[in-house]
Amino acid sequence: MTARPRLTVIGTGYLGATHAICMAVLGLEVLGVDVDADKVDRLNSGVVPFFEPGLPELLTKALESGRLRFTTSFREAAAFGDVHFLCVGTPQRADSEAADLTYLDAAVTSLAPHLDRRVLVAGKSTVPVGTAARIAARLRELAPAGDQVELAWNPEFLREGFAVDDTMRPDRLVFGVTSDWARDRLRAAFQPVLAQDVPVKVTDLQTAELVKVAANSFLATKISYINAMAEVCEATGADVHDLAEALAYDERIGGRFLRPGLGFGGGCLPKDIRAFAHRAEELGVGQAVGFLREIDGINRRRRARTVDLVVASCGGDVAGKRVAALGAAFKPNSDDIRDAPALDVAATLRRMGAEVVVYDPAAMDNARRAHPELGYATSALDAARDADVVVLLTEWNEFREIAPSALAAVVRRTRMVDGRHALVPAVWAAAGWDYRALGRPAVQ
Ligand code: NAD
Repeated sequence: MTARPRLTVIGTGYLGATHAICMAVLGLEVLGVDVDADKVDRLNSGVVPFFEPGLPELLTKALESGRLRFTTSFREAAAFGDVHFLCVGTPQRADSEAADLTYLDAAVTSLAPHLDRRVLVAGKSTVPVGTAARIAARLRELAPAGDQVELAWNPEFLREGFAVDDTMRPDRLVFGVTSDWARDRLRAAFQPVLAQDVPVKVTDLQTAELVKVAANSFLATKISYINAMAEVCEATGADVHDLAEALAYDERIGGRFLRPGLGFGGGCLPKDIRAFAHRAEELGVGQAVGFLREIDGINRRRRARTVDLVVASCGGDVAGKRVAALGAAFKPNSDDIRDAPALDVAATLRRMGAEVVVYDPAAMDNARRAHPELGYATSALDAARDADVVVLLTEWNEFREIAPSALAAVVRRTRMVDGRHALVPAVWAAAGWDYRALGRPAVQ
């Protein structure tokens, strides 16, 4: 075995493709593996199949280095790799709030029968605590090399939109291991990252699994906390934006993730907190994290309240009204529309009879596929043409920078619902707009 292990990355979606590309750029030999042959072809020809700033340039660089390629063959993967990273999706099940582990189990079942020498399999996907122990047993059972195949858990904390930086220079690495050998293999795999003094927490498998869901639960709680305060502000005429700013001066609280608005979405936070609550119930400790259901409930209400605000701004009815929806992605700098609050709001307004025209700088193709019933425009101004109300749903910088006068020149009515607290109310009011945001008094 070489001192610097050869890596495979199984599942080349947002997480896996980023991990594979960055590790190859950092000097390791990497083979990406996916069951989606089209995705594999695109990656091999230098196309990143999703939007992530900086990643296309790094893919080109990695392919040119000769250290990176992609395949659909698990046999090839097993022959190539010393450390196999599992990066497949773990979405919410269709029939419950639990995590769907079908893809993970399928990847293990495809890989294991080819593992005929001592290797490390390292899970990166987000999983319910206890999954790693089950997979370790399955690997021992299916792999010809038996207990020579070890499992580690190395949860991933990257943020879409900052995925390259987060992978190259993470806040921390977490290694869940059951032996010094596994720890040292992971250290060797991450050597170029560790060379930058990135802290490593070495722990057991179940703690490593829990770190990820505990972190996401904390972040979701912080967002829903300030949004709960917004609900109280709405009942009293107080201003949650000022409240959040005042809270943020307290270093024990801090300002990050304390922005009120439409709430969280995406392929991680919502399904992770639901799966965590579900898993805790299975373990008999449901009460300990029962608050996560409240966090989820507060978050879901934000979407309904944003719809209410649009309806109120239109005088009580949106039927026949033209709504410009600025944003579709679940957050800026991403084309990810999984559980996107923006599209939820847009689709609800459409069901209520509004004509909704969407514009997003990156997520148009994904949005169009998921919501063919909505209208689509080629720019923010194009979306706003003749609009009765403009709703800002994803806080892209491009939307923050729109001049109120430029938008006023194309709309039918100057009504702005700022679902992300992205604009300065006084500026919009001074330009003649009726400005509304959740948890703030309306300004005209
Ligand atoms: P994704 O849906 O973008 O990618 C999953 C990939 O796995 C797809 O390309 C799919 O074709 C592939 N796949 C499915 N079954 C397979 C199999 N049997 N063998 C090989 N490949 C298979 O998902 P993602 O966003 O990259 O998330 C992957 C995991 O990482 C999830 O557990 C998620 O919770 C976690 N995670 C994601 C992020 C993020 O920001 N996206 C951050 C941290 C952790």
